[in-house]
Amino acid sequence: MLALSQRSQDVTPSSTLAITAKINAMIADGIDVVKFGAGEPDFDTPDYIKAAAIAALDAGLTKYTPVPGTPELREAVAAKYKRDNGLDYAPSQVIVSCGAKHTIYNILQAICDPGDEVILAAPYWVSYPEQIKLAGAIPRVIDTTSAQNFCMPPEQIEAAISPKTKAVLINSPSNPTGTTYDVETLKQIADIVVKHQVYLISDEIYEALLYDGATHVSPASFNEETKAITFVVNGVSKAYSMTGWRIGYTAGPEDAIQAMSRIQSHSTSNPTSIAQRAAVAALTQPQDAVEEMRQAFEERRDVICQRFDEIDGVSYVKPQGAFYIFPDFSAHYGRTLDGKKSKGSMDITDYLLNSAGVGVVPGDGFGADNHLRLSFATSLTEIHRGLDRIKAALQ
Ligand SMILES: *Cc1c(COP(=O)(O)O)cnc(C)c1O
Repeated sequence: MLALSQRSQDVTPSSTLAITAKINAMIADGIDVVKFGAGEPDFDTPDYIKAAAIAALDAGLTKYTPVPGTPELREAVAAKYKRDNGLDYAPSQVIVSCGAKHTIYNILQAICDPGDEVILAAPYWVSYPEQIKLAGAIPRVIDTTSAQNFCMPPEQIEAAISPKTKAVLINSPSNPTGTTYDVETLKQIADIVVKHQVYLISDEIYEALLYDGATHVSPASFNEETKAITFVVNGVSKAYSMTGWRIGYTAGPEDAIQAMSRIQSHSTSNPTSIAQRAAVAALTQPQDAVEEMRQAFEERRDVICQRFDEIDGVSYVKPQGAFYIFPDFSAHYGRTLDGKKSKGSMDITDYLLNSAGVGVVPGDGFGADNHLRLSFATSLTEIHRGLDRIKAALQ
């Protein structure tokens, strides 16, 4: 066997993939599993968006586009930032990539040198630390607690800043916790990045999915100094149920956007032409479909919280956004379940899958082994069926 790169060996395989493969294998064997693993909305993409894609095909939009996206999509994105976030960007400060995951990858490739540091919270989205490492940089993880709403205290961010710090990365609303940063805390974080002149990467992919009447505030909107060093990351995957279309975008400092475009020009080139036209429709047409899906998620959130209230030894922070709940199951660690001592999130995940027919994601991969992640991007019927099973399995 020939040697593989150190880089490829340093990447931690996604812990969520192993469990997903197992769940799917069980379902293929005819076993009834209630799935709470999905990292995507369960709704179909709205019809008006699909119609735009079909029209794009019929119009022959099947060729390369400019690398950072079509002029019409970059303009639509700039208009979106103005409409939803009160942010003024020229289309030249916007780049469209193959999903927001790719956007964040390109940002890190464009700003990080080997040995640079990026500050982020745990629990974190599984891809952040790996993408930071792939850029040669070092994840500086700040562990947060449920009492902190899983948000990094600004003074801890400031204490973690070193001469090597390149960026602070925040994700509000958060995957996997569903929690959000309050405006006061965001302002303090903005002041810190301005004072120390490090980038702020603000992953706002769940912006449209907020509950209890909350509104989203982007830290870039506080002042010009913050905006000048912030990447406002977003995309169509979560708001419009378009995960498979692979369109993400960011606005940010123009020199960095150009650097990202150079990198993208030698890797993926442009995102899919047809999906770009569909994204224009998503962003510019009336947004009723987004609100309908948001309301469905809010109802499901309420139901899954009520059902967890009935289960002993499981605590959670009520999700304020996104479609995940991240309960703490550690009161059940140490128990012997199915003849096996449960030591962490992986064991409880296995137990729930094998003995109760419920598929969840262990918190381990998110940097929080006391927790399990459940996605409530599934029907109310499935939520009830799954929570009945979890309750019985833990009694
Ligand atoms: C889903 C997700 C993304 C990006 O999704 P794409 O489909 O690549 O646009 C980015 N950040 C977080 C936290 C996510 O959960």
